[in-house]
Amino acid sequence: MSTIPVMIPWLGEEEAEAAAAAVRSGWVAQGPRVAEFEQAFAASVGAEHAVAVSSCTAALHLALIGAGVGPGDEVVVPSLSFIATANAVTYVGATPVFADVDAATGNLTAATVAPLLTERTRAVIAVDQGGVPVDLEAIQELAEPLGITVVEDAACGAGSTYRGRPVGAAAEIAAYSFHPRKLLTTGEGGMVTCRDGELAARLRRLREHGMSVSAADRHAAAGGASVVETYDEIGFNHRMTDIQAAIGLVQLRKLPAMVARRRELAARYRELLGDLAGGLVADPEHGTGNFQACWLLLPEDAPDRTVVLARLAERGVSARRGIMAAHLETPYKGTARVPLPATELITGRSLILPLFHTLTEQQQDRVVAALRDAVG
Ligand SMILES: *Cc1c(COP(=O)(O)O)cnc(C)c1O
Repeated sequence: MSTIPVMIPWLGEEEAEAAAAAVRSGWVAQGPRVAEFEQAFAASVGAEHAVAVSSCTAALHLALIGAGVGPGDEVVVPSLSFIATANAVTYVGATPVFADVDAATGNLTAATVAPLLTERTRAVIAVDQGGVPVDLEAIQELAEPLGITVVEDAACGAGSTYRGRPVGAAAEIAAYSFHPRKLLTTGEGGMVTCRDGELAARLRRLREHGMSVSAADRHAAAGGASVVETYDEIGFNHRMTDIQAAIGLVQLRKLPAMVARRRELAARYRELLGDLAGGLVADPEHGTGNFQACWLLLPEDAPDRTVVLARLAERGVSARRGIMAAHLETPYKGTARVPLPATELITGRSLILPLFHTLTEQQQDRVVAALRDAVG
């Protein structure tokens, strides 16, 4: 009996060919394929500008610099998120301030953010947790009149929709991840999208050491040596490679099929487990999710989660503990300013079920049977 993993990226010959073609072209660093991927991605999520980077963590780092966040500032974030959300705030010398989430969606709401705003708040990072769209406009209506930028951490959100548009389209700045644990993957990779052209130009420089003219543009210019770049501020090496972008272009075309299949499988989990779960993640009224993380709350009378996970593993099912909470980890322990009851409930009692494009109904039935046994 083979183990059913929690996630398998949906990669094939087409991605392998695209990566090989990039290698054969002789241009493997950031170049024409990155530019093409940026344009295709911007079009697919309805963004004005897209800047490809090495990860979503790098995207969040640049987004915060772009939003003018620095030492002494505060940024409101959900604790219930992958720790990179909070870490990006720390990278720029600011302080992450943890807000609670809505217990049904796992996302920030205007009501959980409002009590944490102070004179030092410079930004809010609203996460589309597990691909569930956050109600961004409600948070923007609260924050923007106060001069606070709302950055959308759409790491998990490519393929989800918010009020009829792709997730991220409503944001001033949004950050996406292409890690294999998300839907669309480039191995490692990320994207920043934004509305403002000057901001996009600055982010392009910041991802490439602060260079005024990109290496690819210098190379392409006739007699390249005559184009001399300057370095007007301190930048980073947050570049994506053309090999990654080549894979991303193929994956982007497959994204709608991935989302459709995941939604089908998630609906089937709901049918089969609805009576058992203390709550199975679902679409909110303001959008549709891609089920990047198909999580459920274990029933109150279920055994301890570590026991459930061990019993599932014995039956060849690889599930995961639910979404982490940053305020319970060493770097941020004891820093929460308010109680975070919904965060602690979800992080303590949730379980992420196997869900991937090639999961069969037979495999899914095995997961369901194993889970029913495991919870007793
Ligand atoms: C995965 C994830 C990140 C980090 O993405 P990387 O591309 O691995 O850097 C950031 N925020 C959230 C909410 C994530 O799920």
